Amino acid sequence: MKDHYQLVIIGAGPAGLSAAIVAAEHGLEVAVVDEQAAPGGQIYRAIESISPQRIKQLGGDYQRGYELVEHFRNSSAAYHPLTSVWSLNDRLEIGLLDQGKARMIKADHVLLAGGALERPIPFKGWTLPGVMNAGAGQIMFKQAGIIPEDGVVLAGSGPLLLLLAWQYLHAGVKIRALLDTSPYHNLLRALPHLPRALMAHHYITRGLHYQNMIKLAGVPIIKGVSQLAAHGTDRLEKISYRRHGKSHELDTDLLLVHFGVVPHTHLSRAAGCKHYWDNNQQCLRPQLDEWGTTSQPGLLIAGDTAGIGGARTAEHAGRLAAFQILFQQGIIDQAQRDREAAKDRKWMRDDLHIRPFLEKLFRHPWGLLARADADTIVCRCEEITAGQIRAEYHRGHGSSNQVKFISRSGMGPCQGRQCMLAVAHILADESNQPMRDDAFYKVRPPVTPLTLGQLASLYPEEQE
Ligand SMILES: Cc1cc2nc3c(=O)[nH]c(=O)nc-3n(C[C@H](O)[C@H](O)[C@H](O)COP(=O)(O)OP(=O)(O)OC[C@H]3O[C@@H](n4cnc5c(N)ncnc54)[C@H](O)[C@@H]3O)c2cc1C
Repeated sequence: MKDHYQLVIIGAGPAGLSAAIVAAEHGLEVAVVDEQAAPGGQIYRAIESISPQRIKQLGGDYQRGYELVEHFRNSSAAYHPLTSVWSLNDRLEIGLLDQGKARMIKADHVLLAGGALERPIPFKGWTLPGVMNAGAGQIMFKQAGIIPEDGVVLAGSGPLLLLLAWQYLHAGVKIRALLDTSPYHNLLRALPHLPRALMAHHYITRGLHYQNMIKLAGVPIIKGVSQLAAHGTDRLEKISYRRHGKSHELDTDLLLVHFGVVPHTHLSRAAGCKHYWDNNQQCLRPQLDEWGTTSQPGLLIAGDTAGIGGARTAEHAGRLAAFQILFQQGIIDQAQRDREAAKDRKWMRDDLHIRPFLEKLFRHPWGLLARADADTIVCRCEEITAGQIRAEYHRGHGSSNQVKFISRSGMGPCQGRQCMLAVAHILADESNQPMRDDAFYKVRPPVTPLTLGQLASLYPEEQE
């Protein structure tokens, strides 16, 4: 790896790959870094190595990734897998962990395409062994063909939950129940957005197809679930929930939960980009123009890191960002940028018609986001409960950073990824205020764990 590139792309998912292809085709010196072992990102994970049988089980959307990954492999972009980015600053200096060694590289432009993470929502028992994210279940399936042998309960809301249920059924997994935590009124609130959503009707037909398949397979889809809780002594034994005012229990040793996905903002915040609270997506997003340009010169963002739009939108957003970078580097002029990007801009506009409908349909109730029981752990790394966070608020520590400083929440290995949103929601709830743009922990490098030895490898000449 060199010390300097014209363009460094962080993330080899649909956004990063499509950007790399466009930029490399126009002669830019591009390096793509990704912590995974192979290109594809979340959706096309392990696409180059997976068996034909598993590909069938994962469905047509997954198969689309072949062409994109192949095109990328044939491009001149340098690819650095198993390389994680632990810092990014406003001078476009990038801290990498490459084969166990830390190093810094620099770029004229950086495209951040780090994707999304599953929205962490703390609920009673969520830290018990046997409770996992649905995305983690899907990763094991894609990467290693591992599926639950003795059945599974799926719970939460969002398209990925339906997709995983469909994929599991194809692989012969027994799904004991699918518990839907979206409130009933969501459908009513989504309906006014349906006419616009029909312009991207393939999402709706696919969603209905998954639902029908799941019903036909005899899986109970239980809607209007609230107060989901996991119980067990050393590991999960059963779950409980409320529905129509009654309590229910279900024996299971595996619960996969999913509450949608939210942008990965650690690196963009570390680099000082402006962000805002998007009340529709219920997440923090970077402020961008339609090309993915951030408030920091030379730093662009594309794909789910920019806001949740799905894999196809990510692909087009990556291309748009690449055209903008080519324009900013003087390789193409504005007219060429606009001409070459016209199809992507139209595609994105059309594809995003579905979003307001989905955002209303899968909107999480405030109680689920902000009102975890007092003894529920919110910061998993430091084992800080919702009750402790509320207590700090009432002791006068009203901001996330004060709570972090006093309680250590957000100071563990995940650096607040798992608790950042929950802590901000709990504080907003206690203070009876809406969510604010600046309600979150400040981010400081390293954003991922780094040992002192790895950090010391940055300065080999200073070693004795
Ligand atoms: C767990 C999970 C599973 C999903 N499964 C599906 C699915 O099956 N079907 C579907 O339609 N959508 C799925 N999604 C949504 C899907 O991720 C996106 O719509 C799409 O992949 C977004 O593309 P992207 O290029 O923006 O990001 P991604 O595809 O997420 O790619 C981002 C890449 O950035 C890398 N990265 C992130 N941070 C760093 C760092 N600090 N250092 C180095 N590399 C980094 C990641 O390893 C990843 O390869 C899933 C999302 C998640 C979180």
